Amino acid sequence: MLIVKKFGGSSVANRERIFNVANRCIEDFRAGHDIVVVLSAMGDSTDDLIALAKDINPSAPRREMDMLLATGEQVSVSLMAMAMASLGVPAVSLNALQVPMITNSRYSNAQLKSIGSERIMAELENRKIVIVTGFQGVNKAGDVTTLGRGGSDTTAVALAAALHADVCEIFTDVNGVYTCDPRVVPEASKLGEITYDEMLELASLGAKVLHNRSVELAKKYGVQLVVRNSMNREEGTVVKEDDGMMEKMLVSGIAIDKDADRISIIGVKDQPGVAFSIFNALAKKNINVDMILQSIGRDGTKDISFTIDDGELGNALEVMETLKKTLGADKIDYEEKVAKVSVVGAGMATHAGVAAKIFEALYNTGINIRMISTSEIRVSVLIDETDADRAARAIHEAFELEGLNR
Ligand code: ASP
Ligand code: MG
Repeated sequence: MLIVKKFGGSSVANRERIFNVANRCIEDFRAGHDIVVVLSAMGDSTDDLIALAKDINPSAPRREMDMLLATGEQVSVSLMAMAMASLGVPAVSLNALQVPMITNSRYSNAQLKSIGSERIMAELENRKIVIVTGFQGVNKAGDVTTLGRGGSDTTAVALAAALHADVCEIFTDVNGVYTCDPRVVPEASKLGEITYDEMLELASLGAKVLHNRSVELAKKYGVQLVVRNSMNREEGTVVKEDDGMMEKMLVSGIAIDKDADRISIIGVKDQPGVAFSIFNALAKKNINVDMILQSIGRDGTKDISFTIDDGELGNALEVMETLKKTLGADKIDYEEKVAKVSVVGAGMATHAGVAAKIFEALYNTGINIRMISTSEIRVSVLIDETDADRAARAIHEAFELEGLNR
C-alpha cells in the first residue's frame, strides 16, 4: 500500500515525539508499505515565527511572511529524515520546490494547482521514506507561498490524491473526530466514521480537527481519510463517502463557533435589489457571510441581519456604513458577544423533527435563539456567547450522543 501520513505540530514538538513518529512510520515501512510523510512545523513554532515578524513589522509584506513561515516545516522534515537515518532507515526530506507543489500566488492563502509525482515516486522506488513539508507551495515565479493556517492537512490530502495513495492518515493529538469538543462536553463520543459532507460542515463551522479545504479535496478526489492520535494506537475516525452501508446519524456532531459576529441593517426599503446590493458589496470585499435573516416588510421597510467571522468585522462595518447611505437605511447595528452553535447530521436530510428537538433542548435550558439557519444536513442557531457551552451540552444530551460507539 501507499500510505500518506500527516503529523501535526504537536506530534513533532520535541525530540521524543519526533522519534515516536519516526518509529511509527518505520513500522509500516518495514511491513512493506510505501510511506510518504507530511509534517507541520514543530509545536507552536509557526506562531513563534509570526510573533517574530510582528516585532519587526506589524504589517509585513505577505510574500515575506510566507518566506518566513515556510521555514518551520523545513526544520521538522529535515530533523525527521535525520531521526530515521539514525535508526538505520533511508529517508529523504523534500520541500515544495523539490516536489514540486505548485500554487497560485495568493500569499498566505495560496491554492495548490499541481503536484509533480515523479520525484516522490522515484524515491519510493528506491525504498526510501519520503518526508514532505506541509503548508508550503511555490508559485510559477518560483516564490514560496503558504496555504493558510492549518494547511498541512491540505498538503497531505492533495499529495494522497496526486500519488493515488490507498489512504491518508492525519495524525493529531486527539483520538479522532468527536461529537463535540470534549473540553466543553466531557461526555463527547469519538465517531468511528463520518461522511465527507458532515466533516465539511463541522470543519468549516469551527471544529478545528481538519483544515476544511483538505476535506473538500478529499471528497473531490475520493481520498479516504483517517484521523488518528499520534500518541496511541486508537483506531481513529474514518472520513469517507457515504457508501450506503453507513448508518446515517441524525446528529453526528455539534460545533461551537464563538468567533461569529452579527450585523444588521435596519430600515432598508422593502423593494427588489436590496439584498443583492448588500451581499454583492460584501462579496466584492471577500467577506464571507453565513447566516442571513430578513424580516417581513412593514411600512415599506425591512431589516436584514447576517453573521460574519469576527476577523472581518471592521471591513464589513465599513462596507455597511457606505451602504447605509446609498440605500437610505436607518442604522447599522452589530453585536460581537454572540456564538453560533451548529448541529450536523447526514440523517437530518430524511428525518423530520431534528430542528424541533434542538429548539426544545434550548428552551428547556432557558436559552434564547436570535437567529436560525438550516441546510440539508445542519441546523445552526445564533445565541449569546455566554450560553454557547450550555447549549452544546443540552443538545448533546437531548440526542443522547454520550457513550456512542460507532
Ligand atoms: N504550521 C502551519 C500552521 O501552524 C501549518 C499546519 O500546522 O498545518 O498553521
Ligand atoms: Mg491542524
